[in-house]
Amino acid sequence: MAIDTPARIAIVGAGPTGLEATLYARFLGYDVDTFESASVGEALRPYGPIELPWTFGELSSPLGRTAILTQNPDHRFPADDATITVEQWLSSYLLPLAEVDLVVDSLRPGRSVAQIGREGLRRSDVVPFDDRFDELFLLRIADRDGNEEWLQCDIVIDAGGGESEPAGWGVGGLDPIGAARLASESNILLRHVVLPDEERQREWADRSLLVVGDELPAIRQLDALLDLKRASPETTIDWIVRGNPEEDSLGDRLAPLVSTDPRAAERMARIEQGVAAGLIRRLVGLQVASVSPAQEGWWIDLVGSQPNRLRSDRIFALTGFRPDFSSARELQLDLSPETEGPRAWADYLNAKRSGPEPTRLESAEPLVNHEPNYYVIGRKSYGRRSDYRPSIGLDQIRALFTLIADRPGLDLYRHLPTESA
Ligand SMILES: Cc1cc2nc3c(=O)[nH]c(=O)nc-3n(C[C@H](O)[C@H](O)[C@H](O)COP(=O)(O)OP(=O)(O)OC[C@H]3O[C@@H](n4cnc5c(N)ncnc54)[C@H](O)[C@@H]3O)c2cc1C
Repeated sequence: MAIDTPARIAIVGAGPTGLEATLYARFLGYDVDTFESASVGEALRPYGPIELPWTFGELSSPLGRTAILTQNPDHRFPADDATITVEQWLSSYLLPLAEVDLVVDSLRPGRSVAQIGREGLRRSDVVPFDDRFDELFLLRIADRDGNEEWLQCDIVIDAGGGESEPAGWGVGGLDPIGAARLASESNILLRHVVLPDEERQREWADRSLLVVGDELPAIRQLDALLDLKRASPETTIDWIVRGNPEEDSLGDRLAPLVSTDPRAAERMARIEQGVAAGLIRRLVGLQVASVSPAQEGWWIDLVGSQPNRLRSDRIFALTGFRPDFSSARELQLDLSPETEGPRAWADYLNAKRSGPEPTRLESAEPLVNHEPNYYVIGRKSYGRRSDYRPSIGLDQIRALFTLIADRPGLDLYRHLPTESA
């Protein structure tokens, strides 16, 4: 069912996906409010100097680049095949995109979408699909000072990201006993990849560092720590990995992720060399059961193949994230039991696992949820999976608007609009 313009769309989040979706919807003539609880690109900011695993061409859309250049013909972008840092993504593309007239008019920074419901319906109401479809969404919006207001809209596009709540890093995916106490000690427990800049190099050199996790963030962190180890040989790096020590299948488990980050294979090879050379001590088949303060640093009690106790000064607990759908609890969401993201999208990705890499969505069907006109795109759609990449978010936007506008061939990324931004 098409939603004709003028219709009102609320977008949750002004990260890369929310900004691109805002521009796309505005070009099509929709009335858009994009809510951002903090500021544009908020989730990216802590990663500043980290190099992104994708080229500038994959991190930007033709529509976004055209809109920025229309507004500021002197703007210079990195080359399409350039590898850039998060800071460069923000300064050369995302922040200028947020300044484009069509986007800035829609942006509502400092405003959170606290709750999303349907005006005349509760989640528990059993009504035909069309009745839910026809009912307006109602959003409760809250600003930083505690002021609140209602917003009605026809469509909600949730691009709220998926890296706000770290997943458990202990045995069985739970938090280890003592983790809350450890978390209250700043600088000891790190839940995001952190590059050792000069200050961190001084702080971490000759210390005992522990990395927990077996996905791309752990690989990136270990690769960065190897350089530190070479410069300061007294540093120890322990790496705890789940799985069966008899059949160390880490390479197999990481294989699908390598396509997400083209440099992951090189990193893995360097880490394997580091393990073989004794620079990294890899402990397979272990999980963290508890943590407790030692005279210096923290004791880490491990269970599994060889119950063990380690002492660590810094713990990089890089075990992924879980999405936060709490604001949408009054909607009839159907979430995947594995990813905690939308089930239809998770099923689509699972089906693709056995086939070729998803490059271009043939239809928007995998984005359709049980709750009509509530769509989840970008990192959030992947839930606990860590193989998201921004070019997929752009393709989701393209496909989604073929459905919303009921124009099957619509593709503003291939056929750029001629009207000025
Ligand atoms: C160096 C690096 C490497 C990465 N590698 C990978 C990878 O290999 N695999 C992977 O899966 N991901 C990876 N990521 C993560 C992902 O690519 C990025 O986080 C990307 O920014 C996702 O864009 P997004 O717009 O979908 O979400 P985000 O950038 O997270 O943006 C979401 C925005 O929504 C806002 N928001 C959330 N809830 C609300 C609300 N209720 N109301 C208002 N605003 C709200 C947030 O403040 C945030 O600004 C990586 C990130 C970095 C920095």
